[in-house]
Amino acid sequence: MKNITAQEHTTVDQAGLEREVPSLDSPHPAAASLAVHCDEPGCEAEPVEACEYVDSRGNACRTHWCATHGPEVAGHRYCRRHAGTMVALGSKANNPRALPDVGHRGASLVRWVYRDLDPAMTTLLDAESRSNEHLLRDTEVAVGRAEDGSRCWEMSWKLASPSGIRLRITLMVEEQDDSVVLVRLGDEVLASGVPPWIEARRLGKQVTEEEDREQRRSFYAFLEEYLTEAIRQA
Ligand SMILES: [Zn+2]
Ligand SMILES: [Zn+2]
Repeated sequence: MKNITAQEHTTVDQAGLEREVPSLDSPHPAAASLAVHCDEPGCEAEPVEACEYVDSRGNACRTHWCATHGPEVAGHRYCRRHAGTMVALGSKANNPRALPDVGHRGASLVRWVYRDLDPAMTTLLDAESRSNEHLLRDTEVAVGRAEDGSRCWEMSWKLASPSGIRLRITLMVEEQDDSVVLVRLGDEVLASGVPPWIEARRLGKQVTEEEDREQRRSFYAFLEEYLTEAIRQA
């Protein structure tokens, strides 16, 4: 099977997705060969292909997109949501069991929040590291399993030395609720929250670009402060 590598140019703005992309909670009626135009609202272009995403239960996305609105990842066409999922999972997408349900945003959400927090976490952990330790950062979303067998999607920062991992911070989205991002220190959940752009979508609220920026800033500031405090006490 082909390796899927993260390509930055196919990175999808998660907040943009929540504003613009039709919800997949109720999957599209299988339009199959009947699609006459792209599924992007307002786009009249002819679809080139259907999204090739098929989740671990065998459910397919099958929405139809033109060349502009259906990005290609590792030679396959996806809708923007699933392009985000495939890029987030990277090589792990080769394992069918890693693929979240068609309507589940977990993998791309974890990657999105991780990327946004990464500069601050890198600074924080570099400052906390002891002389024989180095910082390990993830480049792909990993799939974990809870005791009840449900899955979660996660990415971590770790401070490691030759004798092992001293400190691990993990961002995680669980299978049962793909709106909530959990933050773990080691195995302990420290905080959880619904990112503001997802909250806005849930409530059907329109926010201006400025409001969006401000909400994101305070969401990340909250997480950073919280983690700074927790790491100092660890
Ligand atoms: Zn289009
Ligand atoms: Zn799709």
